[in-house]
Amino acid sequence: MLKKGYTISKKNSLCSDCFQDEGLKLHSLKIGINNKERCDNCHSMSGYKLNDELLWKLSYDFFVKGTLHKVDYGAAPVIQCNDKRETEITVSLKLSKDINLIEKIIKIGFFYYGPRLWMLGEIEPLKELINKKTRNNIIQKIIQAYPIKTLCQNDKFYRLRINPIKESNHDEYDSPPKEFLKSGRFDSKKLPILYASQDVEVCIHECRVTVEDELYLATLVPSKTLKLLDLTEIVEDNESEFESLDLAIHMLFYAGKYSYNISRNIAKVL
Ligand SMILES: [Zn+2]
Repeated sequence: MLKKGYTISKKNSLCSDCFQDEGLKLHSLKIGINNKERCDNCHSMSGYKLNDELLWKLSYDFFVKGTLHKVDYGAAPVIQCNDKRETEITVSLKLSKDINLIEKIIKIGFFYYGPRLWMLGEIEPLKELINKKTRNNIIQKIIQAYPIKTLCQNDKFYRLRINPIKESNHDEYDSPPKEFLKSGRFDSKKLPILYASQDVEVCIHECRVTVEDELYLATLVPSKTLKLLDLTEIVEDNESEFESLDLAIHMLFYAGKYSYNISRNIAKVL
């Protein structure tokens, strides 16, 4: 938060060549302004220029987002910055010089962040989901809270296959064969799941394709109306972060393979 009365200067005070740390240089090149003005600080004309707003962005991206520490469920930054505290982090001499430059211009301090515990998964509905004894109870609440999405014969969705054995064989575009079951987030031995998307870009990303791959894309249409639970919806549950079902679901889908059994249980109940 900015102090009252603090105004953001439009002046370009620093540039990418001002910094010694390679990460700060690279990110400044990405977000900075490309012009041939001489930098007031280092006199470079080729550096990408940074005004106050961009220096805030650089600081937040590099120090806060850049130190995001992931735990099993959730994540929190190790470092925070604001204009109320002095710098109290220990860094290399090079980086310390860079920090001094930023501090001087936008009057900001960098410090170790004590995260709020919900960021690290201390959320009641999430804990109830992780606990096998209470899981079913919370799954019922999820089913009640999230909206139903209906797909009918007019809706299309896509399924991408990389290097299929027989590209014209329809089975290639069905749910994965038995030997691959229990490798995805939702499928289990007893419940094969067809993974597909209405967005081709999502298919490409999810399949981790490379330029060497031969790709085949099937356009699928439901033969009857399908009812789906839309877990992407943001549910306004009016609860604190510690009680939020929405945050619990959000963290579940950012978690790794160890969480798949929970998602599989949700799929089974549906
Ligand atoms: Zn400079």
